Amino acid sequence: MRAELLGFKIDTYDFESAVEYAKNISGQVVTINPEMMSNPDMKEIVNSAELVIPDGIGVEIGLRISGHNVKRIPGIQFAHRMLQECKSAALIGAKLEVNTLACENLKKEFEDLNIVYAQDGYFKDDERVLEELKQSNPRLVLCALGSPKQELFIIEAKKLLPEALFIGVGGSFDVWSGQVERAPEIWQKLGLEWLYRTIKEPQRFKRIFPTLPLFMLRVLRERFIPKGV
Ligand code: UDP
Repeated sequence: MRAELLGFKIDTYDFESAVEYAKNISGQVVTINPEMMSNPDMKEIVNSAELVIPDGIGVEIGLRISGHNVKRIPGIQFAHRMLQECKSAALIGAKLEVNTLACENLKKEFEDLNIVYAQDGYFKDDERVLEELKQSNPRLVLCALGSPKQELFIIEAKKLLPEALFIGVGGSFDVWSGQVERAPEIWQKLGLEWLYRTIKEPQRFKRIFPTLPLFMLRVLRERFIPKGV
């Protein structure tokens, strides 16, 4: 089940169906947001992924405008659930202490979870990390290197581990480590997590502006103005 928005193919599963689907596949999961969709180089990467879930409220609104009744699936929640579903995982990314704390907290939370490989996200020797990851042979690999670095790393890694599921998870380890708080539930429910994060970290403003309004204008143009006009 795939929709297309601004040339990006996006799966339209609800949360539970996406989890069921992901349990039975291997390959790359992209948690897509308007920022990624504003980078033309991302199109090929996203369209070659095995599963693309609409992470942000911007993508949900965009899909609704183009006629798809889709609810967003927060990438962090999806990855957290997949950790519960998979027996072995690798966590690659974030600062060393963040990575270590996130692993500790997740092990406490999921007793059955076996974290077979952990690596911070500031390595230079990709070859070593790829080789160590291959040797550890996890079912689930979470990559928190920011975009598009994590997506490019996953493209290389999935060639070495054809049976693993890879998810690019952005800032999720920062939250799981306890170093960054997610927005309170009411902000999440209203789809205003981005606003909360921007108020807490004003330096993020330049990342969403003008990206978000431009994204919305492009979506409206695609929907209401016929091609060629
Ligand atoms: N990061 C990393 N290596 C890098 C750049 C970033 O491990 O070279 C980590 C960073 O520490 C953070 C995550 O990647 O934990 C990206 O966080 P960000 O808030 O930028 O994610 P997004 O907003 O893209 O979800």
